[in-house]
Amino acid sequence: MKLLAPFLAAALIAARAAPPAIDGAKSVALPFSLGEVRLLDSPFRQAMEKNADYLLSIEPDRLLHNTRRYAGLEPKGETYGGWEARGIAGHTLGHYLTALSQQYAATGDMRFRRRIDYIVSEMAECQKAYGDGYIGALPPLELQTMRNFREGIVEPLGPFNFKGGAWVPWYTEHKVLNGLKDAWTLGGSAQARDVALRLADWADSITAGLTQEQLQAMLSVEQGGMMDVLAELYVLTANPRYLDASRRFYHRAVLDPLLAHRDELPGKHANTQIPKVIGEARTYEATGDPNAREIAEYFWGLVAHHYSYVIGGNSENEHLFPEASMSHHLGANTAETCNTYNMLKLTEHVFRWDPRAEYADFYERALYNDILASQEPRMGMFTYFMSLKPGLFKTFSTPFDSFWCCVGTGMENHTKYGEAIYFHGRDDLYINLFIPSVLTWGEKGFSMEQRTDYPAGNQAEFSIISAPDSPLAIRVRCPGWAAGPLTFELNGQALGVEGAPGSYAVIRRAWKKGDRLKVSIPMAVRTEAMPDAPEKVAFVYGPVVLAGDLGPAPRTATVPYSEDQDANLDAPPAAVPVLTRPGAPIESLVVRSAGGPLEFHAAALGLPRGIALRPFWEIRYDRYNVYWDVAVREPSDSR
Ligand SMILES: [Zn+2]
Repeated sequence: MKLLAPFLAAALIAARAAPPAIDGAKSVALPFSLGEVRLLDSPFRQAMEKNADYLLSIEPDRLLHNTRRYAGLEPKGETYGGWEARGIAGHTLGHYLTALSQQYAATGDMRFRRRIDYIVSEMAECQKAYGDGYIGALPPLELQTMRNFREGIVEPLGPFNFKGGAWVPWYTEHKVLNGLKDAWTLGGSAQARDVALRLADWADSITAGLTQEQLQAMLSVEQGGMMDVLAELYVLTANPRYLDASRRFYHRAVLDPLLAHRDELPGKHANTQIPKVIGEARTYEATGDPNAREIAEYFWGLVAHHYSYVIGGNSENEHLFPEASMSHHLGANTAETCNTYNMLKLTEHVFRWDPRAEYADFYERALYNDILASQEPRMGMFTYFMSLKPGLFKTFSTPFDSFWCCVGTGMENHTKYGEAIYFHGRDDLYINLFIPSVLTWGEKGFSMEQRTDYPAGNQAEFSIISAPDSPLAIRVRCPGWAAGPLTFELNGQALGVEGAPGSYAVIRRAWKKGDRLKVSIPMAVRTEAMPDAPEKVAFVYGPVVLAGDLGPAPRTATVPYSEDQDANLDAPPAAVPVLTRPGAPIESLVVRSAGGPLEFHAAALGLPRGIALRPFWEIRYDRYNVYWDVAVREPSDSR
């Protein structure tokens, strides 16, 4: 413990304040707490710092405006705009509490802790004013809709509304409850525990009397991660009341077909469904129910392998479509960022039970090419859709007048890059991601620093800072995309370790302070084709999707920042050249420029010299193209 900086110790103590009370299904690989992994300089740490600045620029009293107002108390700040001024008001406060809590857990920075404490105390006051345990910022229509559930009145009106237009009230309340839960377990707020459990009791009380038919009607409207957060509260408290409440959110129409391995996803709203499956994943961990695991693993395989674009995101216009039509779904409103946030959550669960490189490969793909790619680095703003329309550009939020769902999940995303770099078993350490960081595995007395310029470079070095006397297996992910077996050196000597792509290389020994493990990961350019259009391909180098940089997008009132996520859907795209393919494999014709940063050219494919291929995540303000049409050049054409 003496290796730990005081703030890390504080964060660990905070995490221990809420030990899991139940350990139903044993996970094989467990995540580290955020306080055990410190990021060193990298694009991820820079994104985290920019995001932290944004978090601090938000005024809690303004975010609390509707919470106080609807509780009958005088607001202390003006309301924010965008979705915070609509029926979904309050969702951001929940995300904000989670983001603050994760940031605090990762860094120990007391500025975030003070905000957590202030917001929770304000919410406690409002909860008291509401009087029945409810807390949130739902406008009267949405709140009355929920209170009517207690009377057995459930009147859905389409997938997002109840009668009168009430907009996804459970979705919103999930954010509030989850934020309070995180303020308790990660933010160290004991008061948050009380407020969270009173709200959970309220959620239980208004649903306890509903018939199965009424519940299923209620669940036809998007409900966020209610099943997930209630199952987690059950794990944290061992109170079966929360498990009962959680199971009421089992949506048969979506989950039963998944259990039967029937793919009925086309046409469904993506981000409504993924959290239901995360709820099943959490249920498996809480209870060991094999059906819950079956649903989670089957769904993960479907979405990761059959519904995802090369960047790891999914959906067009928020909806899933058949894989056989994917090439017709390259519009401006592809890949809602929330979906990827949720797929990463689900990926972490399935990885815990069955630590396969395949899962970590997907995590890495979506992390670099969608999550990191979703942040705008000047103001720390967020994408909603990640447009894959050829020749279009990214549209980012505004600081205080957007507050879309993807702003909420977005502010969480960049606080938790330390979450999935490493996992551990009892005597195993999994290295999943090559991100510069220091791991302090306090319980084991093991500490290690990772240095790398990956993916520009293809090596990572791990220096042991401290280690226990007993042997420990370090398991290094060998990415499935690697261009050959990974190779390893220990203290400058080659190690004869199997490093086959798509597996874990295992190095088991009694590690000593000062040991240096070096990993080399063969990388090459490869193509990934559209499943329904083999001549439409994206270029990928190592973990990084390469996009053609087509030059600056014009700055307008909605470019690059927009209050409305749909503002630029009809913007005219730039022309994108069709590539031509001679006989040679096209991967070999994409050539990396000399020097440090990742930049490629493909003149031999007819790509003009002025269009460089660069990591998609690095393109923020320019027009771009990800999927290229490649025509075969007839022999007679070739001079
Ligand atoms: Zn969203």
